[in-house]
Amino acid sequence: MPTDTNNRKSCKEVMELANSHHPWFGIEQEYTLLDRDGHPFGWPKNGYPGPQGPYYCGVGADKVYGRDIVEAHYRACLYAGIKIAGTNAEVMPAQWEFQVGPCEGIDMGDHLWMARFILHRVAEDFGVIVSFDPKPMPGDWNGAGAHCNYSSESMRQPGGLKVIEDAIEKLAKNHKKHIMAYDPKNGEDNMRRLTGLHETSSIDEFSAGVANRGASVRIPRQVGEDGMGYLEDRRPSSNCDPYKVTEMIVKTTLIE
Ligand code: ADP
Ligand code: MN
Ligand code: MN
Ligand code: MN
Repeated sequence: MPTDTNNRKSCKEVMELANSHHPWFGIEQEYTLLDRDGHPFGWPKNGYPGPQGPYYCGVGADKVYGRDIVEAHYRACLYAGIKIAGTNAEVMPAQWEFQVGPCEGIDMGDHLWMARFILHRVAEDFGVIVSFDPKPMPGDWNGAGAHCNYSSESMRQPGGLKVIEDAIEKLAKNHKKHIMAYDPKNGEDNMRRLTGLHETSSIDEFSAGVANRGASVRIPRQVGEDGMGYLEDRRPSSNCDPYKVTEMIVKTTLIE
């Protein structure tokens, strides 16, 4: 019997059922660096930095905090054989993202969990804490998600846009079930993040669109133009279990 928190077992079973479709995933893992007092790393101790705007993909000591940690993590992941493929500074200062993928099937969860462990371990050497909370700072600060990019083999081939649209229809019908699977508290954590503000959709309603950052599911602009590719599920929380997220997506779009 697997333990209660072991979501890998059922994920693997579902991935094996769907293996002829060759499901690929790429997760954009957002996170926040905190000082040991719980305040975001690099922020003024008795207050807040200037409003969001200049920080996303920024450069300069007044724009980004903790790049040495990010770079060390990236190199450690490459050394460990993790399929990490990018990183960027996020909208809120001290918030970052790295991307893992494309990974097929069970590999997505395996690689992302190891990348998270290595991040905690590397940050420890710098005396800094990693938070995967989806909304570490309430108010006018962006939250942290784990956008899950997904494709099946037929989505990646000519005519794939139609397959993507069919999958989105299925996702729309199962919105609540997906929200329940997209954070460890069945939607309670993500509720603080999916407000409809700060480049998120509302937690209560499913929406989709080409190049729409305010939708639950986005079809990237390039995919719309090419007529094939993948979709981006923007709902998963930064603290989601990737085994649960990828299992639910495959169940809804390929099995049920
Ligand atoms: P965004 O524009 O949303 O910030 P990113 O560039 O951060 O997107 O991340 C894109 C993600 O999509 C990467 O993790 C990448 O591996 C993944 N990806 C690219 N192509 C595919 C595909 N065909 N199927 C699944 N995932 C894909
Ligand atoms: Mn991204
Ligand atoms: Mn991002
Ligand atoms: Mn994204």
